[in-house]
Amino acid sequence: MHRMQDFGETIFAEMTQRALAADAVNLGQGFPDADGPSAVLEAAVDAIRAGRNQYPPSTGFPDLREAVSEHQRRFRGVEVDPVTQVMATAGATEAIATTILALCEQGDEVVTFEPYYDSYAASIALAGAVRRTSVLRFPDFTVDETSLRAAFSERTRLVLLNTPHNPTGKVFSRTEMDLIAALAREHDAVVVTDEVYEHLVYDAEHIAMASLPGMADRTLTISSAGKTFATTGWKIGWITGPAELITAVRTVKQFVTFSGGAPFQPAIATGLRLPDTFFAELRDVMRARRDLLVDGLREIGLPVAVPSGGYFVVADCSAWGPDGLTVCRELPAKAGVAAVPVSAFHDDPAAGATLVRFAFCKQPAVITEGIDRLRRTF
Ligand code: PMP
Ligand code: GLN
Repeated sequence: MHRMQDFGETIFAEMTQRALAADAVNLGQGFPDADGPSAVLEAAVDAIRAGRNQYPPSTGFPDLREAVSEHQRRFRGVEVDPVTQVMATAGATEAIATTILALCEQGDEVVTFEPYYDSYAASIALAGAVRRTSVLRFPDFTVDETSLRAAFSERTRLVLLNTPHNPTGKVFSRTEMDLIAALAREHDAVVVTDEVYEHLVYDAEHIAMASLPGMADRTLTISSAGKTFATTGWKIGWITGPAELITAVRTVKQFVTFSGGAPFQPAIATGLRLPDTFFAELRDVMRARRDLLVDGLREIGLPVAVPSGGYFVVADCSAWGPDGLTVCRELPAKAGVAAVPVSAFHDDPAAGATLVRFAFCKQPAVITEGIDRLRRTF
């Protein structure tokens, strides 16, 4: 298909295959290597036994939509009507694709930041839209106002934002969020904000775009259960925002999956209602893993950008090879470790060319083993 000709196998699939073939420690694809809270797992088993195994409504079961609405109020101070302003999706991935398909006409422009999560470029291409990017540069990844302004035009339809950010671990600051909001308003654009790492914020404040003054009316907020409850394979995500935009996205979703994940929806509703202590412990556990990986990579001598949020650490691996892609293709067989090149998240492969992303959503012993293997190799 012409629109998809630039897209082959995803970088995550390639690096996980290489990791499996070399029996490597997989610090590439971002998925946890241990189960999440047992209350959530048990709730799924209970839901299966209770017969919740047929099609949910295409917007999701009411108990999940109500739990999402309560979660937005509790953590973000944002009010959304569970009937008209919340819909369930097959993970954040479907939420991103259906949102772009629903809101963009051929040739409309989508402003986003580079590096970006890989599905952004593919979803924009599927819709026949055009991506306009502003580059975040290692090691600070701060927003460059001049390049961001230049990415907007009279064709701008959407701004696609991701905070906390994959792959950099950046958490957008209030000043940066205010700038993005002001530009969106100026160009009458809708902001689509991907907040799948919203509960993985270590030493910054997560600011929800929908909570900024005047932004709830033009913001679609996407999140997902995968990261928060260590259930990436369940693919339960959701979108919240203005009713007319949710209706537009639902129209597309009806013909993509219609619905999915029946017994997992009430289980995630249980998760979203867990007490504050669960979310605080998750953050503390992940912060300790971040520190373990950051310290280890620094000891080996790599320049590292310390992430404020998310699952990943970006390091400059120019000492290990000509570029990150070559390094990551060799790393599983050479060192017994898998990682992901940041160039895979860029339009211009020269941007971030020597940068490599390492995941820390793994058991401490696995992170330590990965570091030991790298130390022995380099
Ligand atoms: N957005 C970002 C920034 C991600 O990192 C991921 C996956 N890790 C997704 C979306 C996809 O989420 P899901 O697995 O819920 O489809
Ligand atoms: N989001 C995960 C990551 O960034 C991968 C998801 C996938 O394999 N598509 O590593």
